[in-house]
Amino acid sequence: MMTGHYATALVAKAEKRDMPLWLLLILSQFTDFLFNLLSLLGIEPIVDSDGPLGFFVEMTYSHDIVPFLFQVSIIALIIQLAYKRKDFTLWAIIMVSFHLILDIFSGFKHHILGPNTLSYTFGNYITNPVSAFVIELIVTAACLLYFMYANRRDGVRYSKTKYALLSITLILPIVLSIVVVTM
Ligand SMILES: [Zn+2]
Repeated sequence: MMTGHYATALVAKAEKRDMPLWLLLILSQFTDFLFNLLSLLGIEPIVDSDGPLGFFVEMTYSHDIVPFLFQVSIIALIIQLAYKRKDFTLWAIIMVSFHLILDIFSGFKHHILGPNTLSYTFGNYITNPVSAFVIELIVTAACLLYFMYANRRDGVRYSKTKYALLSITLILPIVLSIVVVTM
């Protein structure tokens, strides 16, 4: 999943108004930022494949369950030390963990620890990327709609232009991905 992760930060923001949006956005996508770094370092390389996406990645250190437990523990520790607020730490754990939950339904195959261990995801980027992007589109739209509903519920004013820009930013990359894969 790509921008769909960012969309979940909007739901968290609606439920935890005093937590900074920038922090929630980083937390929602942190696991992929770590993958980007590891990929640049050649630890989780992007390799060519014959599949519909044309590439494949084994994200052992960023997305497999055992290393992820270290990742989430370190993040929880940093947030607790930085803000000294248990509620922020709890939301940080939820946000980072929710990344992996969404990747079950839309993404590459992730495992317990390494490619030879049990996979906990459907790996539909390999088998059926269009279904993966459609799932991401539904999740993103649902998060956007919830954000709009919660803002109205809580009396938070947001201009239509801001909503439109937010929706385009989150949805356009997913729609373009569907177009590219089906071309
Ligand atoms: Zn990911």
